Amino acid sequence: MPMPEDVVTHPDYPIPGMYKAWVLGDPGQLTYEEKPMMVPGPAEVLVHIDAISICATDFEIIDHGPPALIEGGLPFNKGFTPGHEYMGTVMALGPGVDEFAVGDRVTVEIHAGCGRCKRCREGMYTACVNYGMNYGNADKGHRANGFSTDGGYGEYAVNHVNTLIRIDDSMSDEEATLVVTAGTAMYGLTELGGLVAGESVVVTGPGPIGLLGVAVAKALGAQPVILTGTRDNRLDIGKRLGADHVVNVRERDPVEAVREITGGKGVDYVLECSGAANALNEAAYMVNRGGRICLAAFPSEKVPVDVAHLVRNNIYVYSIRGEGKSGTHRAEAFMRQKRFDATLIHTHTFPMAELPEALRHARERIGDAIKVVVRNPPIAARRADAA
Ligand SMILES: [Zn+2]
Ligand SMILES: [Zn+2]
Repeated sequence: MPMPEDVVTHPDYPIPGMYKAWVLGDPGQLTYEEKPMMVPGPAEVLVHIDAISICATDFEIIDHGPPALIEGGLPFNKGFTPGHEYMGTVMALGPGVDEFAVGDRVTVEIHAGCGRCKRCREGMYTACVNYGMNYGNADKGHRANGFSTDGGYGEYAVNHVNTLIRIDDSMSDEEATLVVTAGTAMYGLTELGGLVAGESVVVTGPGPIGLLGVAVAKALGAQPVILTGTRDNRLDIGKRLGADHVVNVRERDPVEAVREITGGKGVDYVLECSGAANALNEAAYMVNRGGRICLAAFPSEKVPVDVAHLVRNNIYVYSIRGEGKSGTHRAEAFMRQKRFDATLIHTHTFPMAELPEALRHARERIGDAIKVVVRNPPIAARRADAA
């Protein structure tokens, strides 16, 4: 299918009429199907997905639905394609787009937001008041690919220009899929204070966001950076990403360990990435008076909180949802400067056709899987085939 006249394409980047994508049926059910090619609208571009990283949130969406919201409800049996941590090549420009050119390599933020609500105007587009309002009469233009609009488990996606970040050739496709994870950590550290040079930081939980949280905190000049967790192999990666100290909470009480490392004072900031039930209370006992905690993960059940300790010690508690305030752009700048090697958390790669196997590796942490990347054949190879 040819693109409409006001969409810019390039003969070197031919666009097929149909493309393949994984489609969510009933809970847990994904099928690889043909879909008609999408057309980018104003301020949008068509992206060929070159690589995408699996995120734990994908399992929530595929198994249970939320936080995905399609046509005002659960995402099942609506032709929806999940997946949100991807990178690729710009293939077509919607009307009026001059920020990008066909052939640009880009990585993505997830949330475009509606751009018209109070929170979007403040840069908090991941907390858009019109989340999911992008259908029928309720269309406020909100887009969060892989959550409220089609995502990246397929060959193509449409992105708002605000969600794209150009990357240079020194960054591999796999590394580029990790920019948004680093961007989420950057957003958390932004809320804690932004310039954390010389301030002490604890990161709790060595998942992907926690590990890159260590890297970003160190790149921002934090000193010391302490990482707590249960898995030695992940704590070791944390050291290579910049942690000055690691604490295995199976061996040591993390509050005691942090107090000891800081000469009894506690730290200035805690970035909580574990989602453990006691994590907020432990964070409160790790920070000093007037210290700050940012929650980037949460337990599935409701938990009791030591509010008196928080208030008596003037402790600030923040939370973040996703990658707001252009944190992803700033994270990409660190990665472009090689301030840390995000690829240390990339453990496995699968072709797109084998997505279910890739998901199984990520879900069951087979082979100590941390970040599992799924790939399409590179666009350059496709161009060679077509020639
Ligand atoms: Zn994610
Ligand atoms: Zn909004």
